[in-house]
Amino acid sequence: MDDGMLPCRVQCINCGAAYPPSEIRYTCECGGLLEVEHDLGKLRSQVSRELFDSRNSSFAIRHSQIANCSGVWRYRELVLPVPEESIISRPEGNTALYHNPHLAQWVGVEEFYLKHEGENPTGSFKDRGMTVGVTYAKLLGMKAVACASTGNTSASMAAYAALAGLKAVVFIPEGMIAFGKLAQALAYGAITLQVKGNFDTAMALVREASPALGMYLLNSLNPFRLEGQKTIVFELIHQLGWEPPDWIALPAGNLGNTAAFGKALREMKEVGLIEKVPRLLAVQAEGAAPFYRGFVNGFRKREQATPNTVATAIKIGNPVSYERAIRAIRYTDGVVFAVSDQEIMDAKAQIDRAGIGCEPASAASVAGVRKAVREGIIRPGERVVAVLTGHLLKDPGATVDYHLGRLNGIKPTYANRPVTIEAGLREVERVINSA
Ligand SMILES: *Cc1c(COP(=O)(O)O)cnc(C)c1O
Ligand SMILES: [Zn+2]
Repeated sequence: MDDGMLPCRVQCINCGAAYPPSEIRYTCECGGLLEVEHDLGKLRSQVSRELFDSRNSSFAIRHSQIANCSGVWRYRELVLPVPEESIISRPEGNTALYHNPHLAQWVGVEEFYLKHEGENPTGSFKDRGMTVGVTYAKLLGMKAVACASTGNTSASMAAYAALAGLKAVVFIPEGMIAFGKLAQALAYGAITLQVKGNFDTAMALVREASPALGMYLLNSLNPFRLEGQKTIVFELIHQLGWEPPDWIALPAGNLGNTAAFGKALREMKEVGLIEKVPRLLAVQAEGAAPFYRGFVNGFRKREQATPNTVATAIKIGNPVSYERAIRAIRYTDGVVFAVSDQEIMDAKAQIDRAGIGCEPASAASVAGVRKAVREGIIRPGERVVAVLTGHLLKDPGATVDYHLGRLNGIKPTYANRPVTIEAGLREVERVINSA
């Protein structure tokens, strides 16, 4: 790839050093995190609500239509301006925005929406970042991609690598990822390495192994993935007729999404797509809440934790995008919250029972909104969107264990227990009538 090909550059968030997009690097010489910089001044005259509206109605059958059909590449000027024929897409995005009166009442706001990223092709929002990361890896001429993962990143990377004809190598903490996600990595053909240790151990190993073995690293450290994840915000505001909500709530683990959401909002504001910037509510699990503790102390000191939570997708003690996420919270006048596993699983049961469903980590956003309303941070009259990050079927174990009362230390407040019966009509009648 030659440097003239991409009209953007990669810049350090600490010292401002800029690098050409064709250079394979994940951090700055100074150690700082990198960010993709678009020419927003120029984009102001190139993108508009009308442009994105006009791309909204196509069905992708042939590859020539896939860019407009994808909920990521529809916004390509603000994501990564690559030649359309190079795009590797399922296509992803186009996820539903649910307005559910029952859940609105349960959290305590009148206008409450759920943006369900579990409706992406592999069942999580990771597909939005991965379509960009894998497209870019292919443009760079890489033959292999790698990531460490609590599960969804590896599932997504494995699928997109298969689509692109690249070798996929995933590093997962042994015995600590949900079954649905492990199944996907194996099924999509990734070389699956179960690393002894937790996520942070696996992450350190892949950071060492990727440059040493010529693999392109696709963790959210990678700035191009975050460009794809920004489109969750583009799409949800587009779905609301370009009328931003007052709050956007999301689960926060490695903080890639928190960072991406802040960047998305800043860019939308700067190119004139929105006037008002919603506030972010980033929600962590109490057992894995270093960013929450940092927020409470005014981000004076970088915090770490030994993570422990039922929500494995946010079970992270040393978040990669910590500094980028601080900028997002500051820019949006955001708030960071922590909720208990009990609150997470009860919120999940409510989301599931509404017929929508999600994996445990996703429910942190809804649990966080409910708590923020109770503490007076979110007012009942405000418009709130909570992002559900992953699909119900990702972690069937946690769901079944909750309903059977088998989750350690968690009360099955809204349990729906299966009933074993003798095979007879009277038995059926008895159970139905007593329910
Ligand atoms: C990856 C993931 C998260 C955490 O997102 P970050 O960007 O790492 O904060 C939350 N929920 C699900 C389902 C995930 O897969
Ligand atoms: Zn730097």
